[in-house]
Amino acid sequence: MQRRIINRADLDTLTKADLIVLSADSPGITELVNAHCVTTGQVWLNVCYVNDIAVWGPLVIPGVTGCWACQRLTARDSSGNTELDILVSRINSRYQSPSHGSTNMPAAALASLDVLKYLGGFGSVQSLNRKVGLWTHELRLDEQSSPRNPECPASGSMRASSKSSV
Ligand SMILES: [Zn+2]
Repeated sequence: MQRRIINRADLDTLTKADLIVLSADSPGITELVNAHCVTTGQVWLNVCYVNDIAVWGPLVIPGVTGCWACQRLTARDSSGNTELDILVSRINSRYQSPSHGSTNMPAAALASLDVLKYLGGFGSVQSLNRKVGLWTHELRLDEQSSPRNPECPASGSMRASSKSSV
C-alpha cells in the first residue's frame, strides 16, 4: 500500500506493517518516520538517491539495529543562524531535483532485494546497520556505517520489533 505522509498525524494513521519502505524527499520526513517507527517498534527501510548515487538503508529494526538517529547520516540540522537558514531555504526552494531512472531503478531494485531477504528470512540483508550507496556513473559502492547507538536520541521510547531475528 502506498501512503502520502505529510506530518506526524499522518503517521499515527498507519497500521503496523511487516515493513515500511520510505522513498520521500521532503525535508525532515526521514527523521519524522524514524521517530515514529522507533517509538512503535515498526521496521522500516529508507531508499533514495543523492545526485547520481542510488541509496538504500539503513533497514531499521527497532531494538535490534541502528536507526536513522543513531548516527549522523545527513547534514539537515539547522545551522542555528537564522539568516543562513533563510538563505539555504531560498536556495533549496529553487533546486530542481536531478532524479532519473538510471539512479532510481538501481536504488529500488537493491532496496527490494533487501526487503525480500528480510521478509523471506534468507540471504544477507546488505542495509543492516548501514546506508549503502551505488555511484551509478562509476559503478562503485560506498557505505555509511550506522550501528546501534545506546545514546541514540530516538531510543527513549523504543519498543522492540516483534521479528527480532535478522
Ligand atoms: Zn537510533
